Amino acid sequence: MSVLTKKQLERYKRNILLDGVGLEGQEKLLQAKVLVVGSGGLGSPAAYYLAAAGVGNIGLVDGDRVDLSNLQRQILHTTSDLGRPKTESARDKLIALNPDVNVTAIGEWLGEDNYRELITGFDLVVDGTDNFAVRFLINRACVEQRKPYIFGGVLGYTGQVMTIIPGRGPCLACIFRDVPPESAPSCSSIGVLGAVPGMIGTAEAAEAVKVILDLGEPLVGRLLTYDALTMRFYDIEIRRDQSCPVCGAMS
Ligand SMILES: [Zn+2]
Repeated sequence: MSVLTKKQLERYKRNILLDGVGLEGQEKLLQAKVLVVGSGGLGSPAAYYLAAAGVGNIGLVDGDRVDLSNLQRQILHTTSDLGRPKTESARDKLIALNPDVNVTAIGEWLGEDNYRELITGFDLVVDGTDNFAVRFLINRACVEQRKPYIFGGVLGYTGQVMTIIPGRGPCLACIFRDVPPESAPSCSSIGVLGAVPGMIGTAEAAEAVKVILDLGEPLVGRLLTYDALTMRFYDIEIRRDQSCPVCGAMS
């Protein structure tokens, strides 16, 4: 006997029809707790699709407010949200889309002093940041707490995504050892095509659903790169580095 209401059965009909999802999978999604770090270009599509799919508990972390220059790509925010905290603006849209979802808006930056604690209450973390120092903190906490972390990043016309499942494949520090210098190119210095974070954030949401439901082959040990100019996707095999300072000692 399903615990889903009649309305939920209707809302999630096309999830439930999917091979590998069914009622049991939908119930699992409704129980899942996903933290989306960043409510911008990547976090917007990622959180939107997670909420639409019925991921029942979504945490949003972002200390920023909505700025006019964000609206070119950060599709959870509208012109009337200018100046509002991003997590509050994002929470309103997610709840409007799907009132089943319990959205927690955490209007602060993830940093050295709170990263472990922020991640503690969640099953999985989706990367919607634009900052490698923050990604390294997420990676460290996820390895320590053995939680999956969906890494995503964009720059210019390209984007990357990889799924990190501690113990099953490489972590972020197996690939990138150091935080890039301040002078490294960023979206604020060289720009980004809005649809690129749209693609990557959407891929992150798909990976999160796959990991929650243990479906298919997640991007574990495969760094997927997307190039909008050539419209090519390619993935590079990445192995675990036994001397990785973060996950090297883990069995
Ligand atoms: Zn590692």
